[in-house]
Parts: sequence; structure tokens; C-alpha cells
Amino acid sequence: MELEDLYQEIILDHYRSPRNHSDVLDRGKCVKHENPLCGDELYLKVDVDEAGGKIANICFSGHGCSISQASASMITEAVKGLDKDKALEISEKVRRLMRGEAPAENLGDIEALQGVSKFPVRVKCALLAWMALRDALTNGKGQTEKKDECN
Ligand code: ZN
Repeated sequence: MELEDLYQEIILDHYRSPRNHSDVLDRGKCVKHENPLCGDELYLKVDVDEAGGKIANICFSGHGCSISQASASMITEAVKGLDKDKALEISEKVRRLMRGEAPAENLGDIEALQGVSKFPVRVKCALLAWMALRDALTNGKGQTEKKDECN
């Protein structure tokens, strides 16, 4: 199997069976990010255990293309249980991956996104969830307090 076919399979698997896809997260922070160019709309909900600095729980909802949904599924799977700082480090690595740089460490399923770097219009789709995570962890833009927007 060609590497690109394998990557395609991994992306489709996350799209069809998204991990941590849920409207409900009891506690935590919600961030909404949109990609108007493609019509992607994403809500990422993150519960950081403030005492330990770990991502205790994370889920996402919304709708969009296969790349944006698969990317959100991958991110929730990759960072759940990690320290906040480690999660931010991974999000920076994904940005570099999207600039076409080879990953310096094994990123698991996330590496399947590297083919997207060849299609600039889709890069924003792939990065939507990663930007949302960064904003959720650093109190950046996209925070929403409105319950109807996030639940
Ligand atoms: Zn998209």
C-alpha cells in the first residue's frame, strides 16, 4: 500500500468514527473556531485539571469537511491526559508539519495529515482544531461563554 493511501485511510477512519465526539463536557472551557472558506465549524471543549495541569477531558462537536473533522478527532485522542505544555508543544509540531516539514518525533495518526500540506486551501481545515486547542489552553480567541453555543 502506498503511504498516501495509508494516510488517506487513517483520515477517513477518524472521519467515519470520530474519537471523543460529543456535545457534552461537564466542566471545562469551550472554544469555537470557524473556517468560512470551507464551511467548517468546530467546538472544542477542554477540561484542564488546574491542580495538575493535565488535560483531564477533551471533546469536540460541530461539522465540516473530512480533514477538519478527522484532525479534531486526532487532536482529542493525542492530547487527552497530557500536560498542557506538552499538548501545546504537539500543536506547534503540527503547524510545522503543515508547513511541509518532516516530523522530528513520531506523531502517530497525526502524521497522516502531512499530505495536506501540499494543498494550501486545506491547511486551514487541518489546523482548525489545533488552533482551537491552543486558544483554549492559553485563553486566546474563540472562547465562548454562551451555553447554547457550546452545548
Ligand atoms: Zn474544511
